[in-house]
Amino acid sequence: MSDLKVELTAPNGKKITLPTGLFINNEFVKSSSGEKITSINPSDESEICSVEAASADDVDKAVKAARAAFNDPSWRDLGATERGALMYKWADLIEEHKEALATLETWDNGKPYQVALNEDLGEVVSTIRYYAGWADKITGETIPTTPQKFAYTLKQPIGVCGQIIPWNYPLAMAAWKLGPAIAAGNTVVLKPAEQTPLSILYFASLIPEVFPKGVINIVNGHGRETGHAIASHLDIDKVAFTGSTITGKQIMKTASINMKNITLETGGKSPLLVFDDADLDQAAKWAHIGIMSNQGQICTATSRILVQEGIYDKFVELFKEVVKSTSKVGDPFSDDTFQGPQVTKAQYERVLSYIEAGKSEGAELATGGVPHKNVGGGKGFFIEPTVFTNVKDDMKIYKEEIFGPFVVIASFKTEEDALQMANDTTYGLGSAVFTTNIERAHRVAARIEAGMVWINSSNDSDFRVPFGGVKQSGIGRELGEAGLGAYTQTKAVHVNMGLKL
Ligand code: NAD
Repeated sequence: MSDLKVELTAPNGKKITLPTGLFINNEFVKSSSGEKITSINPSDESEICSVEAASADDVDKAVKAARAAFNDPSWRDLGATERGALMYKWADLIEEHKEALATLETWDNGKPYQVALNEDLGEVVSTIRYYAGWADKITGETIPTTPQKFAYTLKQPIGVCGQIIPWNYPLAMAAWKLGPAIAAGNTVVLKPAEQTPLSILYFASLIPEVFPKGVINIVNGHGRETGHAIASHLDIDKVAFTGSTITGKQIMKTASINMKNITLETGGKSPLLVFDDADLDQAAKWAHIGIMSNQGQICTATSRILVQEGIYDKFVELFKEVVKSTSKVGDPFSDDTFQGPQVTKAQYERVLSYIEAGKSEGAELATGGVPHKNVGGGKGFFIEPTVFTNVKDDMKIYKEEIFGPFVVIASFKTEEDALQMANDTTYGLGSAVFTTNIERAHRVAARIEAGMVWINSSNDSDFRVPFGGVKQSGIGRELGEAGLGAYTQTKAVHVNMGLKL
């Protein structure tokens, strides 16, 4: 065990002892293949440390541990209230350790520390507490039939759940998936993204203080090996995934091998509509939050702003002003930084390639469009917040998910045009409408093809409210009561009340 941890001193001076193994059966263990993942600090491109990466054999061990835990009376027969109590204890422990967790999140992912600490860790703790409260409120129903039959339903856990999470909100995405899964009595094998393997290992080190062995297993590893091993494992009953649409489709195919229950949260190109009766100042501020937060790496980012033609120029000027005054790019450990680096070189290059595409397609670069070199000694994956205007609906930058601080602004004439443009996409995740006309607000909200609509705000999601997409943005819902539906199955029980043959 001693060689399965490292002593780290983070850029903010915090000293952290970090386990580096695979977390299986409440222990940190070596990978059977000896393969490792090296975490890179996106602010200066330095290596932070290397951690174990799971092979298919290791995934199999984790699944066996999860299956044994699922069948063990200490978990299977634990009262629902007691399960909730364990989750409250877990949330308290996470809260106690939130500075270390947020430090690792910022170091590994590049998000501003104040955001990691106050928003991400706040959300992790709140989500776990929220689902702790649900643990003993998951109920079936009785169903009236005939006097000879009494029928009722049981809401039971699905079994061993595989969870594959992305790098943009490593701990928050883990909490969104673990919270309802554990509240409902499942056991889990979770795979973090290879770009951000660190914070979850510290998080894992808290688990043995709360849960019996095997209830939660965490295996770092690459998508094509570890992720694939989870999606294809014959003894995993469900797979939940957040990430790109292309990988989501791949997982759906792979998971068909044993007809796994699936939940997919995938990509988006979410529209934000600004009508000419909107409070423009507020629209510009929310539109900025909606795309520039988290370095633009948000699946629900409102990355297509559609503005009614009469107010187009005024809105563009206001929006550029907000970008200039708010989007301070800098060291993510500085308190005044709004935007840190992109998570990896690959993402940085991807965003830059879309900037080139925008220019060559003839869109107008209103601001940004270049790397930002004033931090990290000229190193690091920083990009100036980028705004393209006069964007046409056949352009690549208008249609494809970019996942960076990159927004396109186009114009529309009428409400009907706005809806046609908003819905002209294969995606359907988030959307936003800015108007002071209450009838229009609800009329448009009803007709937008999206899992979520914000009226006069953007991206202020909430753990009590269902989250998910339609079309190619996903299947199923996370968060809120709906999120429990993804981790329970309904059993119908028929009781013969005297029907004799
Ligand atoms: P990805 O979808 O490839 O990775 C997400 C997760 O899936 C990771 O844990 C990865 O290891 C795993 N994975 C990859 N291939 C797999 C496979 N064949 N089987 C099982 N698991 C697999 O995303 P990415 O390559 O990191 O990012 C590419 C693009 O995806 C981004 O530019 C962005 O557009 C999008 N993205 C979306 C979200 C979101 O929240 N919707 C999050 C991250 C990335």
